[in-house]
Amino acid sequence: MSECSRRRRSREVKVGSLGIGGDNPVRIQSMTNTSTNDIEASALQVKAIADAGGELVRLTTQGVREASALRQIRRRLAELGCRVPISADVHFNPKAAFEAAETADKVRINPGNFVDAARTFRKLEFTEEEYAAEIEKIRRAFIPFLEKCRANSVSVRLGVNHGSLSDRIMSRYGDTPEGMVESVMEFLRIAKEEDFNDIIISIKSSNTVVMTRTVKLLARAMEEAGMDYPLHLGVTEAGDAEDGRIKSALGIGSLLLEGLGDTIRVSLSEAPENEIPVARELVSYVADSFRRADAEGRECPVDYRLVEMPEPLRSQRFGAWHADMEQDPEMVDSSATLVGDREGVIVLSYPEMDLDTLRIHAAADAGYLLLQGKGAALRIDSPSFDRETLGRLELDILQAARLRTSKTEYISCPSCGRTLFDLQSVLQDVKRATSHLTGLKIGVMGCIVNGPGEMADADYGYVGAGPGRVSIYRGKELIRKNIPTEEALPAMLELIEADRKP
Ligand code: SF4
Repeated sequence: MSECSRRRRSREVKVGSLGIGGDNPVRIQSMTNTSTNDIEASALQVKAIADAGGELVRLTTQGVREASALRQIRRRLAELGCRVPISADVHFNPKAAFEAAETADKVRINPGNFVDAARTFRKLEFTEEEYAAEIEKIRRAFIPFLEKCRANSVSVRLGVNHGSLSDRIMSRYGDTPEGMVESVMEFLRIAKEEDFNDIIISIKSSNTVVMTRTVKLLARAMEEAGMDYPLHLGVTEAGDAEDGRIKSALGIGSLLLEGLGDTIRVSLSEAPENEIPVARELVSYVADSFRRADAEGRECPVDYRLVEMPEPLRSQRFGAWHADMEQDPEMVDSSATLVGDREGVIVLSYPEMDLDTLRIHAAADAGYLLLQGKGAALRIDSPSFDRETLGRLELDILQAARLRTSKTEYISCPSCGRTLFDLQSVLQDVKRATSHLTGLKIGVMGCIVNGPGEMADADYGYVGAGPGRVSIYRGKELIRKNIPTEEALPAMLELIEADRKP
């Protein structure tokens, strides 16, 4: 049974033997970061994810060769006694999608690049006729793909990411939540006409505000169009350690608390199996929150108080409420974001628990409230931790909600079969060298194919460009192309330093 009656009703889609949506619980998934052509390493990692509790595992399928390798991985998994459904992740390559539909239980395509080779920025104005001709081009490629999936009982994920929209969509909507929604709806209308309904939708961003707003817009657009496809939730490029966990819990958790989401992935720049306990905790916490609210007759699934703002915070308008601010108003950060008409301090109180669990619970609850525009400050109470630890958590949550910046932000991908360097260790090097640059957003991305688009609003980017090669970006502007890996971090630091000189 579904965990709660408040969840948006969606149709059930079968992915192999796994039911997603309908009355099924929220499903947990992850993705390998091995080369898909390395059969043994990929099979072992799929098994490790499944053993940790992952219910569906995605593999990078950038070409026909990787798509064919899925067959051998499947065989090896059967030898290992692992029957978890697998999903192929395809960008830019319809041929790979067709080949993957021979073996995978689900094929993910990106509407932003399934037909459109890549964003070229060459054509940004389309007449009505040209726009209609583009849609016709999608139909010609997409309908045969749906037929193939139908024949093989394969489901489809339409996965849009912020930063990878087609020129056609960009021409009308820009890189906006509305553009991301329309990018999905173009494909969904065709699938509905063709009566192909084994579809799951994801619409992701590394910016939790954009991600949550877009998913809510999509849910509304689907409802208006009489569609009830299951939703897959995730915050892309969330990073690692506590920041990755807080960002994911805030983005995904706030939507689950709104009753949205049928399957989730917590993307971390760590070993993929590390994602599973975080996702499980999040899903079970939200289910408990609904149960508690129902038992107590509360409409709001989050148990919180909104109290009057203490005097030292009034001038600041938004912040984490440190008890010692009352003695020392100077501690109030002058860079605090002003948030127009918000009122009061959100107070969230938790019983004894470990810090990892508190981060997940508090980020989900605070995200639900803050992203609805509630509260002008945040206070978290727990008997397990001192005020300094709780104050840090408050600030981290406010940063994840993009309401107040108190440290450098890292936008780093979880890595996958396309990654061209040891992303986890490079991320640690980048963090060590830049953690003092409060306010900057730094992207660390595994590949040139999706990295530059998907690091979204990073100020600087370190992007894998080829074996042993890295490209350095300032925003979306390519500054140093294909430089050797050992020169990359110094080159990025040099660029940042030059830009910071008055
Ligand atoms: S940006 Fe990272 S996760 Fe995304 S496709 Fe490239 S290497 Fe894989």
